[in-house]
Amino acid sequence: VKNSVHMEFPSLPENVGFARASVAFFASQLDFTLDELDEIKVAVSEAVSNAVVHGYPQGPGPVVVDVSATEAGELVVQVADRGTGIEDVEQACQTSFTTRPGERLGLGLTFIKEYADRLEVTSRPGEGTVVTFRK
Ligand code: ATP
Ligand code: MG
Repeated sequence: VKNSVHMEFPSLPENVGFARASVAFFASQLDFTLDELDEIKVAVSEAVSNAVVHGYPQGPGPVVVDVSATEAGELVVQVADRGTGIEDVEQACQTSFTTRPGERLGLGLTFIKEYADRLEVTSRPGEGTVVTFRK
């Protein structure tokens, strides 16, 4: 790891923008195009929004975002919450699957998968969720 940043904040909607901007600023020091930086912004927003909306439906809880750059110039972003967790990760990753039909589109994880080179979702009901993507 060449450089890394660790952030922790409560799952307030206004912190989605903070996380998006911070990760984009970090990533701008690496060798990404403007289009790629936009994709990174979307991916971070979706992951942090999920922590806000699904992770802590009852009210704010801690969200931890770790960003790092590898020696190879790869960006690694990890978004972790200690909230509700996901029953079936494979199902959650499917396009249009949402546990909030009528309210959400079920596209967030699909965007992250599309825009990142690699996506890993680790979750356990009642323990929380860790979303890691690389680009
Ligand atoms: P959209 O992102 O389009 O607003 P969505 O959030 O429902 O809709 P995804 O982001 O793809 O769609 O997530 C799919 C489902 O996975 C969610 O509906 C939710 O049930 C579950 N999920 C995702 N992230 C988390 C999380 N951090 N904690 C708990 N559940 C999650
Ligand atoms: Mg979502």
